[in-house]
Amino acid sequence: MDDIKDDTYYILDASAFIGGFEVKNSSLNFTISEISEEVKDLKSKIIFDQTIEDNYLFIEEPSKSSLDELNKIISNSGDTLRFSTPDKKLLALAICFFNKGKSVKVVTDDYSIQNVLKILNIPYRSVLTEGIKEVYNWKKTCQGCRKAYSDIYEDEICEICGSKIFKKRIKLK
Ligand SMILES: [Zn+2]
Repeated sequence: MDDIKDDTYYILDASAFIGGFEVKNSSLNFTISEISEEVKDLKSKIIFDQTIEDNYLFIEEPSKSSLDELNKIISNSGDTLRFSTPDKKLLALAICFFNKGKSVKVVTDDYSIQNVLKILNIPYRSVLTEGIKEVYNWKKTCQGCRKAYSDIYEDEICEICGSKIFKKRIKLK
């Protein structure tokens, strides 16, 4: 009765455990080693350890190539500084499975992570919060004349009008 297998690869962020996401034995659940350090409160920690012991949850390392792919994507979107190492490894693990043709769903409440997943077209769900509805990107823009600059432009001053250049958040969808 209960042995209908869900072939989705669920990738769980720390927020999944803290938010009380129910890890089911009928699905494949993965996380990365660093998450165990982020799950600190006692109740979440007990659930975390139990699911590993029961073989409901597996700890995996993302491949080097998936990390490289991720770094390229987040540097293009200007998001590099927003992510911790565990965030990056979690995203890279999702890319890793996704590239192998697996059906992937990332469980996270982190908007920055969700944003990258949206760019990648990798499905996700949140535990506590509503998912984001917009995808955004950062663009270097002159405060004065509004000229847009590419990320490689290193000067902080606009070459046209001499005003300061700032990073503007732009919506993609
Ligand atoms: Zn300007």
